[in-house]
Amino acid sequence: MQSKQIAIIGGGPAGLMAAEVLSAAGHGVTVYDAMPTVSRKFLLAGKSGLNITHSEDYSRFVNRFGAASARLRPALDRFTPAHVQDWAAGLGTETFTGSSGRVFPRAMKASPLLRAWLRRLEAQGVTILTRHRWTGFAGNGFTFETPDGTKIIECDAALLALGGASWPRLGSDGAWSQPLSESGVEVNTLRPANCGFDADWDDSFRERFAGEPVKSVTATSGAGTFSGEFVITQTGVEGSLIYAHAASLRDQMASEGSAALKLDLAPGRTVERLARDLARQDSKASFANRLRKGAGIDGVKSALLRRFAEAADLTDPERLAICIKTLPLTLLRPRPIAEAISSAGGVAWDSVDDGYMLKAVPGVFVAGEMLDWEAPTGGYLLTACLATGRAAAEGMEAWLNR
Ligand SMILES: Cc1cc2nc3c(=O)[nH]c(=O)nc-3n(C[C@H](O)[C@H](O)[C@H](O)COP(=O)(O)OP(=O)(O)OC[C@H]3O[C@@H](n4cnc5c(N)ncnc54)[C@H](O)[C@@H]3O)c2cc1C
Repeated sequence: MQSKQIAIIGGGPAGLMAAEVLSAAGHGVTVYDAMPTVSRKFLLAGKSGLNITHSEDYSRFVNRFGAASARLRPALDRFTPAHVQDWAAGLGTETFTGSSGRVFPRAMKASPLLRAWLRRLEAQGVTILTRHRWTGFAGNGFTFETPDGTKIIECDAALLALGGASWPRLGSDGAWSQPLSESGVEVNTLRPANCGFDADWDDSFRERFAGEPVKSVTATSGAGTFSGEFVITQTGVEGSLIYAHAASLRDQMASEGSAALKLDLAPGRTVERLARDLARQDSKASFANRLRKGAGIDGVKSALLRRFAEAADLTDPERLAICIKTLPLTLLRPRPIAEAISSAGGVAWDSVDDGYMLKAVPGVFVAGEMLDWEAPTGGYLLTACLATGRAAAEGMEAWLNR
């Protein structure tokens, strides 16, 4: 096929993956990005270890994307977690699997991988134009705000890979929703995913415990029961165990106004054993001492019990034991989307064909987090961004060959 001119708008993992595939196929590819450098969120993700994919059984992996799992499946089948690891190795980044099954680069950061990737793209003839902010369509062209003023760029096909709306200072601010909605694309409201929540801390609790981890607990919500830890923040709670429940809590708050996470503060002990051990304590001893000696609970866990249990529960060993195993941690609202790891919502699947082309704007494709899917942390986000970037590139190639 004749070489075509292709615009990739958004230089995150999804856009760069599409640029890699389309330039390898011989097309003239230009990547446009609003920021002074590309892939800032990918680099930031690398600061906390860069969890690039997950090694769990593939049948579990592909079901981590909730309602979008079926639509994402063909893209994931063509770029599986094993492919992600091979691809990273091809760029000189060896990976290892942690005890949780999460896969990380040995270097535990994104920068060597990104540098090698950009070198590969350059060698394949890809041009990267930064400080080019896409603002909408202009007939068959694409309007950009640049340091040299407004530019209208024409091309044979384009991919929008503009990310979600978390951490907007890294470039992805969701401002693309408006021009797409105006062009007849259905865009579902962007909402925080993998986020913290506000809780009703009083000043003394906040002063004493903000920054304190709550370790070795089990938490239950509509999402299921998971073990792990979380952190008390100035305004509420944050951390991997909270993220695992975030979508369920957020949706429950939206429909019911509030939500509670049920905590088991002593996962290794049964209610019966706790009740027995608590009943044995000297009734004249302080609550803190009875709890520490009878249940092995002190510090922040003890403070959470005081905060969320009924006063009468604290004096009766059986009721206290039940509270320790099923403490309702009432949460008020999700933290703002700007603080979230990722976002839910975005371009509705009904607006996109199986080749990732917008039905309302032929020749324009979409990939990555701007599509309406969400997943927990664990490498699922990056894998799906890379996989949809590839799938959209292949969809574009097929459309150009039609
Ligand atoms: C703190 C943090 C840690 C994370 N850790 C992990 C992790 O360990 N594992 C994991 O799987 N995921 C992780 N993620 C999520 C992951 O980084 C994102 O899901 C992923 O980067 C999304 O890729 P994307 O290509 O769709 O969009 P993005 O990476 O957001 O890239 C979009 C690009 O589009 C550009 N852009 C936006 N609007 C415009 C416009 N109008 N014009 C031109 N350019 C525009 C942006 O500047 C940006 O470069 C983390 C996220 C955060 C915030």
